[in-house]
Amino acid sequence: GQATIGVIGLAVMGSNLARNLASREGNTVAVHNRTTSKTEALVEEHPEAGFVATETIDDFVAALAKPRKAIIMVQAGAGTDAVIDQLAERFEEGDVIVDGGNADFHDTIRREEALRERGLHFVGCGISGGEEGALHGPSLMPGGSDEAWEVLAPALRSIAAVAEGEPCVTHVGHDGAGHFVKMVHNGIEYADMQLIAESYDLLRRIGGHDPDALADVFEEWNGGDLESYLIEITAEVLRQTDADTGQPLVDVILDQAGSKGTGVWTVQNATGLGVPTTAIGEAVFARALSSSEDHRDAVRRTFPDRPDLPEAPDGFEDDVRSALYASKVVAYAQGFDLIRAGAEEHDWDIDLAAVARIWRGGCIIRAKFLDRIAEAFDDDPSLVTLLAHPYFADAVRDGEAAWRRVVALAATSGVPAPAFGSALASYDALASERLPAALIQGQRDFFGAHTYRRTDRDGVFHTLWSGDRSEVSE
Ligand code: NDP
Repeated sequence: GQATIGVIGLAVMGSNLARNLASREGNTVAVHNRTTSKTEALVEEHPEAGFVATETIDDFVAALAKPRKAIIMVQAGAGTDAVIDQLAERFEEGDVIVDGGNADFHDTIRREEALRERGLHFVGCGISGGEEGALHGPSLMPGGSDEAWEVLAPALRSIAAVAEGEPCVTHVGHDGAGHFVKMVHNGIEYADMQLIAESYDLLRRIGGHDPDALADVFEEWNGGDLESYLIEITAEVLRQTDADTGQPLVDVILDQAGSKGTGVWTVQNATGLGVPTTAIGEAVFARALSSSEDHRDAVRRTFPDRPDLPEAPDGFEDDVRSALYASKVVAYAQGFDLIRAGAEEHDWDIDLAAVARIWRGGCIIRAKFLDRIAEAFDDDPSLVTLLAHPYFADAVRDGEAAWRRVVALAATSGVPAPAFGSALASYDALASERLPAALIQGQRDFFGAHTYRRTDRDGVFHTLWSGDRSEVSE
């Protein structure tokens, strides 16, 4: 075979990834799709790519130089399993199968183990950046073995986005580590979008700005600490006028947010691992709430009298910006906590600074901010939480008063700001000397003899609640 790499699955993601690969020095790309007409169309439309078109799986496998490298970009789930099986039957020891779809990392762990037993390498690779990223440079999060990474690195480096001169790809860790980190990336993306949406809502309803004026505000914010792709596109969406009605587009879009499930996975795994990713949780639930039409109707009809919206206080816009930044620090800190917990649980050696660095380009959460996160974990790889790093601690301290004003005003005005509020509560809980968890332990001991520990002595204790209420130790 003469192709250095192959792509299988030529819907939008696979086609774009194949074109990206083909445009880079050193890659000759074999392409294959179950429905052959799609392969033919791609090859015809892009003669410049020099694709090796293949009709059958056997042709595809024969077209690949050894060790063979194939990237699967088909529907996640059963489609991916079917294609893995077809390749695994034909591939030989040392060949590498890459799944670039949005797989559940548990599936990736299972597939990697099964293929390893057959002498094949399997790499679950998170790919972020959507269609545009796939074509021009995504952020790539490959897992799998060290040997597989060695074989794949040149091709992956060649197509990744570039940030500060470095390709946005790193070997995240073994087996499912790449897909795990991609999942958390998406969770953080949910939180960041929700925080931006709450900022918009507060500035609109209390601040009284129209969408066009708000586009100016977000454009200005994009020139500072908040500089990021999500802030940039927020300005663009707010600037857009609907051609039909002449209204701002944001006012004619139905206010029910959809999701494809990776945010839900993040929260499921976070609760399983006991990591309080509250901002991601609020973001996932806020989308679900927005889509709960019946509940919204019923409650809106039951409570037609809403609090009066106040005049925006002086400096409100700056306050919201500070609240957004502080909340964002909390949300990202929680996301990195989850990556660390996942790494401990699954025995992955994940370099958190490297993860922050590969998210600086190509992906949806790309932002200047991630440079700071990379620096923080470079300074101190065992940093317990980003909140304790001097740079982020200062940012939170500087924004704290504004953050409290914004959350308080949101509450009295009846403008929901769940992610702002929960990020602030998370910070306050972590910073509190004592938590009411002591009372909860007391309640648990009362009804279930679940025992408690004491602040002043070692050991495990129980109060004889239904007896003489004396304390016994276990
Ligand atoms: P789709 O998820 O729509 O999948 C369509 C492709 O899967 C087609 O090539 C189809 O072949 C193939 N396929 C489905 N079932 C089978 C099967 N049983 N055997 C062989 N081929 C099959 O394509 P997308 O390009 O949208 O996404 C590809 C992957 O990338 C998905 O896992 C998706 O989750 C992920 N993705 C990632 C994004 C990102 O930003 N990272 C964005 C969008 C998607 P056929 O033409 O014959 O039907």
